Amino acid sequence: MNESPPVYRFAPSPNGALHLGHALSALVNHGLARAAGGRFLLRLEDIDRARCTIAHERAIEDDLAFLGIAWDGPPRRQSEHFGDYRAALEALVDAGLVYPAFLSRGEIRAFAERHREETGSAWPSDPDGAPLYPGLDRKLPEAERAARIAAGEPHAFRLDMGAALAGLGPLSFAETGAGSDEEASEIAADPAVWGDVVLARRDVPTSYHLAVVVDDALQGVTHVVRGRDLLPATSVHRVLQALLGLPQPVYHHHDLILGPDGRKLSKSAGDTSLAELRAAGLTAADIRRMVGLPATAEPV
Ligand code: GLU
Repeated sequence: MNESPPVYRFAPSPNGALHLGHALSALVNHGLARAAGGRFLLRLEDIDRARCTIAHERAIEDDLAFLGIAWDGPPRRQSEHFGDYRAALEALVDAGLVYPAFLSRGEIRAFAERHREETGSAWPSDPDGAPLYPGLDRKLPEAERAARIAAGEPHAFRLDMGAALAGLGPLSFAETGAGSDEEASEIAADPAVWGDVVLARRDVPTSYHLAVVVDDALQGVTHVVRGRDLLPATSVHRVLQALLGLPQPVYHHHDLILGPDGRKLSKSAGDTSLAELRAAGLTAADIRRMVGLPATAEPV
C-alpha cells in the first residue's frame, strides 16, 4: 500500500465562468481528498492564452471560497510551466513518435469532406467529433519538413499513434466511478480511436493531453476526479504516461450535470454560472443540493 497521503486536484480552465458541473467536480474532489486525509490542489489550465484571463482566475477562486473549498499550496498555472511540457515533447520527438503536422483544422475538415464525396463513406472522427488527422504529413520526407518549418509554415506537433501503440502492450486504467479505491474496476484503454492527437498546438507549445499528464505526474496526483466527458481522453493519457514513464493515477469520472434540455452544461453555451446563482441569493448548501450532494460536507 502507498503510505503517503493521496493527492487530488481540481483543474479548471480560466476561460469562462464556472457552472454547476464544475461545482460538482470541485466538491467531490475536495470531499474525497479531505475524507482520505489527502491534499487538494488547484491547477489553472490556462494554456489557451487567447481565452484565459486573470479575471476568470479570480472568479474561480471566489466561487471555490463560496463553496467552502480551500486548496493546498499555491495554484499551478500551466502557462508558467511551458518548459516542462517542452521537455516531455522533446523526449517523444527523440523517440521518433512525433511529427510536425501542417494541416489546419479547416483543411482537415475539407479532407474529410472530400473523402466522403469520393468514397461515399464517412472519414472517421475522434470521440470529441473532430475528424481524425489524415496520415499525409506523417510520411513527409525529413528535408521537406525542415524546409517548410524554416519557411515559417504554421504547424502543430502530433503523436504518431500507430508507432506509439506498436511499442506498447495493452493499456488500462483503474476507475472507481462512485466507489472506493478497493472497488476500482480496470478499464481497457482504447487510444487508437483518437488517431494522431495534438501534443503541441500551432499557437501554444503544448496541448491539453500533454500538459495534463505532465502536471499530474509533477504534482504527485494520485487521484483524478473529473466529469464523464473526459473518460475517453483517459486512453490518450495512459499512452502518454506509458511512453514518458509516468505513474498512473486512479480515475473517477463522475456523472455530468445536464441542463433542462438534457445536454451537458457548458461555458460556451452560456449556461447559468455559479456567480449568477450566488448573486441570486443561493447558498453553498443550495448548490450542493442542486448537484446531488448532501447539503453539508460529511465531518471528517
Ligand atoms: N481543464 C479541464 C476542464 O476544464 C479539466 C481537465 C482534467 O480534469 O483533467 O474541463
